[in-house]
Amino acid sequence: MGQRYTSWGNYPAAEHIAFTPQWREKPWFPDIDVSILPRGNGRSYGDSCLNDQGALLDTTALDRFINFNRDTGVLSCEAGVQLCDILRLVEPHGWFLPVTPGTQFVTVAGAIANDVHGKNHHLRGCFSHHVLALQLERSDGESLCCTPHENTEWFRATVGGLGLTGFISRATLQLMHVDSPFVATETFKTQNLSEFFERNEASQAFEYTVAWIDCLARSAKRGRGHYIRGNHTNAPANPPSRQRKRQPTIPLTPPISAINPLSLRLFNSLYYHRQRETLSHATQARDPFFYPLDGIRHWNRLYGRRGFLQYQCVIPPAVAPEAIDELLDKIARSRAGSFLVVLKAFGDIPSRGMLSFARPGVTLAMDFPYLGPKTLALLDDLDTTTFAAGGALYPAKDARMSAEHFQQGYPEWATFARYKDPAISSGFWRRVTGDS
Ligand SMILES: Cc1cc2nc3c(=O)[nH]c(=O)nc-3n(C[C@H](O)[C@H](O)[C@H](O)COP(=O)(O)OP(=O)(O)OC[C@H]3O[C@@H](n4cnc5c(N)ncnc54)[C@H](O)[C@@H]3O)c2cc1C
Repeated sequence: MGQRYTSWGNYPAAEHIAFTPQWREKPWFPDIDVSILPRGNGRSYGDSCLNDQGALLDTTALDRFINFNRDTGVLSCEAGVQLCDILRLVEPHGWFLPVTPGTQFVTVAGAIANDVHGKNHHLRGCFSHHVLALQLERSDGESLCCTPHENTEWFRATVGGLGLTGFISRATLQLMHVDSPFVATETFKTQNLSEFFERNEASQAFEYTVAWIDCLARSAKRGRGHYIRGNHTNAPANPPSRQRKRQPTIPLTPPISAINPLSLRLFNSLYYHRQRETLSHATQARDPFFYPLDGIRHWNRLYGRRGFLQYQCVIPPAVAPEAIDELLDKIARSRAGSFLVVLKAFGDIPSRGMLSFARPGVTLAMDFPYLGPKTLALLDDLDTTTFAAGGALYPAKDARMSAEHFQQGYPEWATFARYKDPAISSGFWRRVTGDS
């Protein structure tokens, strides 16, 4: 109680009562007359991790490992263990997360509930493809072991299920063997969007592929950026350094956003030109490669007290070049652009969850400071392109998509609703279904 829970984007605001599980073995739900929502580490941007005027059940206290087999790479843990803790435990034994999002400060249950993706979706699919089992606690006291082969529909509803089917108390994961957590990268300076698509086509054998785009570049330069591909190196892992570097931090939230058209243009231009050659090779350590934003603590504060919204869409492959071009054009014209726009092509491995976001196509993700109605109007305009192209938005990053767009992008939502726990709800779910 007493802790203020926000989402990573600090938008929208919400008021909660919060509970920490006082159990490990015999789960119970608090007996209260408002709805409850399981909560991980709050790294989702919008309201899928918020339950305004309701209650949160904070998972982070369930932070114990249960078992780790160094020979097989099978790991069992409680739901609140964070990915950074897993890496610390398993890396020295040659194991790694087969799928990781762009921050290591997320819980295992949070990664399951959003069925997160990483830079290797084209080869490894989503987080749920590596979940061997999860334990689901329902508010009626039922406890279900869900695997791809047992209670399969519960499994399909719960992975990517936004915490709505019950409380995940523990999970078993299959890790990936690597010789080293270091990644040998090749970074291409790309002049426009067409070059992104060409590079990507030629890079499907690489474990990791991703691009950073200068969203303010216009006309012939639209879509220019850096295309990065890489593989784990063969060199054995260096022993972890005992010396902890002091991490830069944003100590306070400024009253207004430090991200504005001027700072954006400057940042994007400097970032684009920081590499002079068309191709550069490097060996990158795990954190700067996978988690560059984690290097600055509380970087989300830079967006000021009103917070920010992330817009992450996926566009089907056949129409992706035109639709992404149109989205970038709209953003550049608005001058409201984002400073770390990420472009990534998903592969065609079918997702396991009824509501999983990842699907064949190209995903574009960008942040916008919340400046009131004009920000919402811009995002509505982006929706026109995304949905005309048959795309979808990512619930983990969303604070404003309409019910119509959710239901269009997630056609299995009505089947999913049959598995929702009646005691659980979220701001997101109420908005996109009108449910209580
Ligand atoms: C810098 C940054 C980079 C990111 N990069 C990526 C990326 O590359 N790919 C990607 O897919 N995502 C990415 N994300 C989003 C992030 O990975 C997801 O939002 C993730 O699910 C957050 O996990 P969390 O532990 O913080 O959970 P929260 O945000 O607190 O909750 C997420 C969901 O999990 C549910 N949940 C939490 N605990 C439980 C439980 N015990 N039982 C049942 N449900 C539960 C919640 O109800 C909620 O619906 C990024 C986020 C940030 C901040």
